[in-house]
Amino acid sequence: MVYTQFINGEVTKGSKGNSWVNYNPANNAPLGEIYQATDDEIDAAVNSSEKAFQIWKTKTGAERGRVLINAANILRSKLQQIALLETQDVGKPIAESLAVDISSAADALEYFGGMAAGIHGEFFDLKNAFGYTRREPLGICAGIGAWNYPIQIAAWKAAPALACGNSMIFKPSELTPVTALELAKAFMEAGAPAGLFNVVQGDGKVGARLVDHPRIAKVSLTGSVATGKKIFAGAASQLKQVTLELGGKSPLIIFDDADLQNAVSAAMLANFYTQGEVCSNGTRVFVQRKIFDSFLKQLKERTEKIRIGDPTDPDTQMGAVISKAHLEKIIRFIDSGKSSGARLLTGGIKPEKDFKGKDISSGNFLSPAIFTDCNDSMEICKEEIFGPVLSILSFDSEEEVIDRANDTPFGLSAGVFTNDIKRGHRVIHQLQAGTCWINNYNITPIELPFGGYKQSGQGRENSLAAIQHYTQLKSVYVELGNVESPY
Ligand code: NDP
Repeated sequence: MVYTQFINGEVTKGSKGNSWVNYNPANNAPLGEIYQATDDEIDAAVNSSEKAFQIWKTKTGAERGRVLINAANILRSKLQQIALLETQDVGKPIAESLAVDISSAADALEYFGGMAAGIHGEFFDLKNAFGYTRREPLGICAGIGAWNYPIQIAAWKAAPALACGNSMIFKPSELTPVTALELAKAFMEAGAPAGLFNVVQGDGKVGARLVDHPRIAKVSLTGSVATGKKIFAGAASQLKQVTLELGGKSPLIIFDDADLQNAVSAAMLANFYTQGEVCSNGTRVFVQRKIFDSFLKQLKERTEKIRIGDPTDPDTQMGAVISKAHLEKIIRFIDSGKSSGARLLTGGIKPEKDFKGKDISSGNFLSPAIFTDCNDSMEICKEEIFGPVLSILSFDSEEEVIDRANDTPFGLSAGVFTNDIKRGHRVIHQLQAGTCWINNYNITPIELPFGGYKQSGQGRENSLAAIQHYTQLKSVYVELGNVESPY
């Protein structure tokens, strides 16, 4: 299999200049070869996106919306097939790809498809005049994705961009080239003009070319803080608009009146879903002292029952991390935790066999790790690990835990567990994070804005808020009287 570009409505032959092998994280067997987009291919993608934009922007919102909703239906009709592709490419359990990845991509297309006909400006009654605003598209938008939720990230960017009348060129992560191509095919099948959603493959250099390209109006990245800073700086030279969905080291705060079982479930969801490779994960779990021991006991028992194994097996609950290099990085963090004095309560080892006794030694598997005896200054409590590693910290008072939770340059997410409704809101209102939960964690319905404070991002995805990030506002003043002139 060769993964090439999708330009102007079709998969290109590509040219084998710079290329590399794409591996299945579960066994490190090759899945195919990726051909990096050449400069000529990037220019061809821009030319075809420009043509599509000229057609697309003249469509009514209802016409655009229909295409998005068709595309959502196509994704849903191919659920099994695309979920399997995603699982083989990313290493996540098929149960997750089936339940979340493809359907949340389809949700975004449906939501913004339904909204497209309702995107409008405002009217202003003025003295002897009136004014109105128009929400106009920006033009060609670039989407640049991370590897943990490839099709979801592509759809979360494409859906609002296209609903608003823009076209998009999307660059998936060099580690996960597969399902953005499926989304591109779905748009074509759904009736989109050729070039409306192009895909270019490649590494950060291709991403940087998109950021620098003078005919690209906006860049939306999902990635690390370090890449976000580079893209922000690159876009600044042309004052391009950016949306940045970046990393985090989010707090999950559990008060002693919380429902223990739910709190443990949430802490596990907040750390072990998709092998812990989730930007919004609540990796600093603050537990109030009175329930610390009982929380830890239940968390350990339930974590040790997680079924690690072949991601394509429907019973598997934890798959393989994205690459050998990433596995080594996570293990380095685990070593750092141990050497800094934290106690590894369970996990953090590379299993040889899965829960059915099958040999998984060739894959990038890691058993979910829980650290206790942690303090706030340890590397494992400060840096984003992006793997199945949970750190537990104890606390006494509300004021103390709020200060400690906020003591980070990140601000993507936060969670609070308590049965005291007043405290739940009071604490959440003081946490410096863009996406928060009370008595749950990592739930991201399309209706709610998603994004970060501080170094975790700029702008918002999902919800009505995304519309303002994919349109520009034009104000029009209309005179009904004479021009009053002093000359
Ligand atoms: P990276 O920042 O390494 O890469 C993200 C994307 O940016 C990739 O496609 C990458 O290309 C590209 N890129 C790298 N350098 C440049 C550059 N100079 N100019 C333009 N594009 C560039 O992140 P990962 O892929 O490793 O993903 C993990 C990170 O993503 C974590 O920090 C995680 O928190 C964050 N993330 C944030 C989410 C959010 O919504 N807030 C959701 C999911 C993940 P290449 O193909 O070479 O990697």
